[in-house]
Amino acid sequence: MDEKNLIYEKSVSGRTGFSLPDTRKQASEIMAAIPERFRRGRDAALPEIAEPEVVRHFVNLSVKNHHIDRGFYPLGSCTMKYNPKVNDVAASLPGFSRQHPLTPCSYSSGCLQLMWELAEALSEISGFPHVSLQPVAGAQGEYAGLLLMRAYHRSRGENRTKIIIPDSAHGTNPASVSSIGWQTVQAKSNEDGILSPEAVAAVMGSDVAGLMLTNPNTLGLFESHIAEIAEIVHGGGGLIYIDGANLNANMGIFRPADIGFDIMHFNLHKTFSTPHGGGGPGAGAIGVTEELEKHLPLPVVARRDDGTLYLDYERPDSIGRLHSFYGNFANMVRAFTYVRMLGGEGLRDVSENAVLNANYLKELVRVDYELPYDAHCMHEFVISGNRQKKMGVRTADISKRLLDFGVHAPTNYFPLIVPEAMMVEPTETETRETLETFADIMKQIAREAETSPETVTSAPHSTPVRRLDEVRAAREQDVCYIE
Ligand SMILES: *Cc1c(COP(=O)(O)O)cnc(C)c1O
Repeated sequence: MDEKNLIYEKSVSGRTGFSLPDTRKQASEIMAAIPERFRRGRDAALPEIAEPEVVRHFVNLSVKNHHIDRGFYPLGSCTMKYNPKVNDVAASLPGFSRQHPLTPCSYSSGCLQLMWELAEALSEISGFPHVSLQPVAGAQGEYAGLLLMRAYHRSRGENRTKIIIPDSAHGTNPASVSSIGWQTVQAKSNEDGILSPEAVAAVMGSDVAGLMLTNPNTLGLFESHIAEIAEIVHGGGGLIYIDGANLNANMGIFRPADIGFDIMHFNLHKTFSTPHGGGGPGAGAIGVTEELEKHLPLPVVARRDDGTLYLDYERPDSIGRLHSFYGNFANMVRAFTYVRMLGGEGLRDVSENAVLNANYLKELVRVDYELPYDAHCMHEFVISGNRQKKMGVRTADISKRLLDFGVHAPTNYFPLIVPEAMMVEPTETETRETLETFADIMKQIAREAETSPETVTSAPHSTPVRRLDEVRAAREQDVCYIE
């Protein structure tokens, strides 16, 4: 095996992976136009390597990492579902992939039509009459939603600055609240793991702009008191926002707008099978009520009387732009492909199978692990490694041991209200055999915790690198190659 891990280490002077016409003459003319002080003193230290070696290098790296195309990925809340390859075929069609973002609307009718129809589909799924595809992540959807709330309250001459958030919330919720300079008020979940109307009433006040809620929540439980909660918040002059990250449990079953929510974000990279990325290449559309439509971010895809579509920037009440051009178009094509491939009934099947898979798996693993909230779950469930911790094996150790079996870890230590939490979301595409294999592995690890805990605490044993020093990796980041 090749011990050289960096492409720079494989570089051999004079090797090339391309053949292009000699452009040195033109280059020297261009150089002449660049002021001396901006010119490079020596050639860029790019790796010199032939194409087949580049391909092998990246393919080898890809199999060292765990990913959904290699094995089971039961990461909760973030819906790491399989991304059908047909999505990429559609996104690569030249009419989409070669469209320049500055092309005038009159030459972009196909792209605009796709955005219009995707927004229509999200509207149908959520019940919200208006959808903007502009935000590029769920968290940016939250940020946009809060700016909409602020615009709404200001237009009514009110200055409210607090948002109620349950203690089971995802970290981006309070972070979004502070990013617009507002404060979070925490509401405690009850003994069933959900929010009671009383808990909301206790913290509702005239300075509260609204409430943010995930449904099903991050414990995988359905918030069954939302209608009453909506009444309390609306009655007190606030708005309610649904964090749609867990929409994978709801499609064709529960429409947030029908029950009183005012704003929602969709994570296209979760529910709608587009690739995940570190806060970058996602897509986090938002849906809003009729009343909030005028505040939507710029531009809005609009339709003229003659039926043609255009990007509307003439919107005086808008919160403004969130992103260059129109967000993440290639991901809109992927999400559109997914929605059209499945259709309404197919999407309902997705949610039903996601819930069925989660409940089946929960019943299998609860034999060996604590289940703090024993209820019918939605698309995910949370178990605790409390029992194993007493034997000296922490949840982090269990997750590291899973890597030896070619399985990604569930979400660890979240939600915060469950000690030693493991949040498991199998998703709809996993087979019964995969779920049973995972349950068997979890059982084996539980046995090891009892009989040979050091096997678990020293894991992983079979990965290309063993246990990493995560704290040091974060504190002393080294992401550059220096000769
Ligand atoms: C993933 C997630 C978010 C944030 O979404 P991003 O698209 O990653 O920014 C917010 N809330 C919940 C419950 C999530 O699972």
